[in-house]
Amino acid sequence: DYGALQPHLDARILELHHGKHHAAYVAGANTTLEKLAAARAAGDIANLVGLSRTLAFNVSGHVLHSLYWQNLSPDGGGEPTGSLAEAIGTDFGSFAAFRASFSATAASVQGSGWAMLSYEPIGRRLHIDQLSDHHENTAVGGVPLLTVDVWEHAYYLQYANARADYIEAWWNVVAWDDVQRRLDAATSSGAA
Ligand code: MN
Repeated sequence: DYGALQPHLDARILELHHGKHHAAYVAGANTTLEKLAAARAAGDIANLVGLSRTLAFNVSGHVLHSLYWQNLSPDGGGEPTGSLAEAIGTDFGSFAAFRASFSATAASVQGSGWAMLSYEPIGRRLHIDQLSDHHENTAVGGVPLLTVDVWEHAYYLQYANARADYIEAWWNVVAWDDVQRRLDAATSSGAA
């Protein structure tokens, strides 16, 4: 239901964002996979570099948007509890400090990108990443837990240039149970 997150996120934004923008990344990924297979079959090494970059852009766009939708709920908002709250306290000092840092990371993206909370399995700690576009500036190995899309298509119809107001509204619909489930999966995977 594209209207389920109102008044924080308008239905028209979500309809376009999911039905047009996210869909374009899925189509782009599939098209690029076909072109990569053809290039490999033809021994066309020169085109592999560009196609690989295009695949990274589109697959990352699909992954991030899939996470973004599942991170949201009309019953969301507030603060996390349980092991997620403990990990945030350990790695960022407090929920308030985490929230302020995450918001600042999202607000300060230059151009199009994302802020992302991830679990890094080697250091076994949470990180806040600032992504450019969908695929630049990503820490290798981190498991994404929570994302906020700050491309203009995510908010401009409702918030115009007030990206910070969109981010504040977004906190009201964060589904912490989904984030907790992802942390549980990441920490029980045995990754080291
Ligand atoms: Mn988007």
